[in-house]
Amino acid sequence: MKNIVYLMLAIAFFSCKNETKKEQEAKEVTVYTHRHYESDQILFKKFEEKTGIKVNIVNSSADELIQKMTIKGAQSPADVLITVDAGRLHRAKTNDLLQPVESEILNRAVPSHLRDSDNKWFGVSKRARIIAYAKDRVSEEELSTYEDLASEKWKNRIVVRSSSNVYNQSLMAAIIANNGEQAAKEWATGVVSNFAREPKGNDRDQVKAIFAGEGDVTLVNSYYIGNMLNSSNTEEVRAAQGIGIFFPNQKTTGTHVNVSGAGVAKYAPNRSNAIALLEFLVSDEAQEIFAKSNYEYPIHENVSVSETLQQWGDFKEDQLNLSILGENNKKAVILFDEARWN
Ligand code: FE
Repeated sequence: MKNIVYLMLAIAFFSCKNETKKEQEAKEVTVYTHRHYESDQILFKKFEEKTGIKVNIVNSSADELIQKMTIKGAQSPADVLITVDAGRLHRAKTNDLLQPVESEILNRAVPSHLRDSDNKWFGVSKRARIIAYAKDRVSEEELSTYEDLASEKWKNRIVVRSSSNVYNQSLMAAIIANNGEQAAKEWATGVVSNFAREPKGNDRDQVKAIFAGEGDVTLVNSYYIGNMLNSSNTEEVRAAQGIGIFFPNQKTTGTHVNVSGAGVAKYAPNRSNAIALLEFLVSDEAQEIFAKSNYEYPIHENVSVSETLQQWGDFKEDQLNLSILGENNKKAVILFDEARWN
């Protein structure tokens, strides 16, 4: 009898000890993120409520976050890195800042072309790089592919942001993968010769420029249009309502897509919390928030898109593995330079 009491006490003691240890591990997760959207604040709060794990957010540009992680090495407090664009995630991977994660939940939720082949990063939300056009000067029938933007009929009609921007670099990387380097260079040269003005501003500025008549067509990430249409700023709403949107390459490669994605830091002090956060981000509940509050496309089909995006209809997406965007990034930058796309 005595022995049983001792045994029970011992079990109680050890399980108590174990729990304390678990509690210590389960306290926090530090997220280095490039994203600065309201949707993410909601997501992190939900995660905290659900798990009791506190989310510490370090917000900065992807380049700065990557640099911070590189400099601090094993001393870095980062558990999770979140960036927009697969090109940047690939950069973090090649700088050896991420560790592989084996997770059934992540593998099941994220289609294989939207995650790293070594499981070092996973897409958590999707966007398409689409064509926006002036409805009064362009008819939908005139539009077809990204490649067609190099044709002479668009002379002095294209406005677009700088090639220093990773969204354009990733599009170029996809064009290199699909058409080859020579064709990609010719494409960029053709587009440059059709510029209505020197590249300047961000994606939203291009939409505004089309609406203001400075050009007739541009390239823009889909969620910017969604956000502009639902903006509290009436100027933005007017501009977005005044333009048409078009999903290019429907009869060929499919529209170029990219992701916001996340990876677990190589030296994550709270590794299991980091994985829990990633798994939460791809859950139906979190995907719903990505879709509804930031007009992004969910990563999987369990969740429907926002009403705004539903109106645009379905589209065929390029199934290229997004790792290729990172692998081709350097080439893309060089080709843009050669084509004098500033
Ligand atoms: Fe963006």
